[in-house]
Amino acid sequence: MRLRNVPGSREVIAESKYAVSEPEKNKGIWKEYFGNDNPIRIEIGMGKGRFIMDQAELNPDVNYIGIEKYSSVLLRAIQKEEERQLPNVCFIRMEAETITEVFDKGEVDRIYLNFSDPWPKDRHAKRRLPSREFLRRYDEILKKDGVVEFKTDNVDLFAFALEEVEPAGWKLDAVTHDLHNDSVMNEGNVMTEYEEKFSSKGNPICKYIISR
Ligand code: SAH
Repeated sequence: MRLRNVPGSREVIAESKYAVSEPEKNKGIWKEYFGNDNPIRIEIGMGKGRFIMDQAELNPDVNYIGIEKYSSVLLRAIQKEEERQLPNVCFIRMEAETITEVFDKGEVDRIYLNFSDPWPKDRHAKRRLPSREFLRRYDEILKKDGVVEFKTDNVDLFAFALEEVEPAGWKLDAVTHDLHNDSVMNEGNVMTEYEEKFSSKGNPICKYIISR
């Protein structure tokens, strides 16, 4: 998701109380940041933040951190949060490649990947968020029994993601190639912005849940 460059978005983000400007400083002490012991779930590549804010509203006893690399997109999430004022959500503008500098071993309870960029060229496979390179990073920050949940309508990206699971040392806990018609996996499903857009065009949504 790339919006046109919004002038001043970096400044707004730097001043917003909802965006954490030096996230590495919270490594190992995110519970203090939120002021409670609740579990911490993160979405990597959250876009405009609808999914994570809806999750936060539904689950007040969980803390949510949305990660997004583009400031023009993150700005939209901040504007929404200014209206919604959810106490259990915050945002970080960063590239996920350095995620292990921001979260300590086992600090994260769950990781959501929703409609991640496909990076279709083979030579860019390492940039795909469900790649084994990223799974290694998630392994460092996710608690022992934590899970990664991934949704996409991109069948090629999903096939790639499934192939990465075992070689990376993870296990497939659940999988569907048509989430909205899978009554078990769809129970309590929170739609993302892209999910709404692509499923309304008739694309089935794929989802997996993996753990170590
Ligand atoms: N999750 C949202 C948006 C999907 S678009 C939804 O489902 O509606 C994918 C988003 O991930 C884009 O906003 C893109 O900027 C962001 N993104 C892609 N790679 C990233 C990375 N390495 N680090 C952080 N954000 C990333």
